[in-house]
Amino acid sequence: MKAFTYERAASPAEAAAAIARTPGAKFIAGGTNLLDLMKVGVEAPSHLVDVNGIGLDKVELTADGGLRIGALVRNTDLAAHALVRRDYALLARAILAGASPQLRNRATTAGNLLQRTRCPYFYDTNMPCNKRVPGSGCSAREGINRQHAVIGVSEQCIATQPSDMCVALRALDATIETVRANGATRRIPIADFHRLPGSTPHIETTLEQGELITAVTLPVPVGGTHIYRKVRDRASYAFALVSVAAIVQRDGSGRIALGGVAHKPWRMEQAEAEMPNGAAAVSARLLLGATPTEHNAFKIPLAERAIAAALAQAKGA
Ligand code: SF4
Repeated sequence: MKAFTYERAASPAEAAAAIARTPGAKFIAGGTNLLDLMKVGVEAPSHLVDVNGIGLDKVELTADGGLRIGALVRNTDLAAHALVRRDYALLARAILAGASPQLRNRATTAGNLLQRTRCPYFYDTNMPCNKRVPGSGCSAREGINRQHAVIGVSEQCIATQPSDMCVALRALDATIETVRANGATRRIPIADFHRLPGSTPHIETTLEQGELITAVTLPVPVGGTHIYRKVRDRASYAFALVSVAAIVQRDGSGRIALGGVAHKPWRMEQAEAEMPNGAAAVSARLLLGATPTEHNAFKIPLAERAIAAALAQAKGA
């Protein structure tokens, strides 16, 4: 591992400023993904700014009846929070479907949003990977691509975004709050937070250099039945081949987002308009334009069946 320097920040503004003045610096909180990447040489920060002491660890009601989740709230605490369990069960279920208890105890809300792909070629520094080394090529396109994306892909990258939590946040219309080194704050709708790979797969979010996530806010609860259905190779501690986050109302309307199929949580409002018409109509719209590669065409029927199962489960709830 490359040597690096380290400091603890005392406030969000101090953390953002510390990153801005040190080229190659990175924030660290739980470190559940970053440290793995550093050990294999994919990440080599010159300086780590530890944000664990800057607060941002509360879950609070907002003035309009929504929920504000501090960036440093641990995944375990968020999934167990009474308001989350009561009003945003989709979020609790998605978090509990991910990782392991030990990782969830350490992993933070902001860190979960920023998880890097689990494409094996991204982690193998001997292999070409446009996400790790722009312009070097994509080993997955002609390689083992069973886990990879089937929709929203580009010639340069077919990686998936691995988070379960983000799929639920997309269905819940979350907003990401940030602060920049100059102290300016902004709010980013989650639909605009993660990027598709296009010709720049190394740029995964719309965050600017040194911009710090301070919170995630959720709008007023929408009610309905909340289902998170995750299909994976083994029953725990595995990333989704396909996952479905669904909120279904009594009249059959609702929201639906997919994980495991794209470079970002995949949701289309046009597909949701088809929910009263049944799962096949939703799938046809949501998966329109899917372009699987050699080993992952199975994800299309798998997604169709997972959507059908989630909607049937909601109906029977
Ligand atoms: Fe790299 Fe993306 Fe290709 Fe994987 S799919 S090898 S992350 S460019």
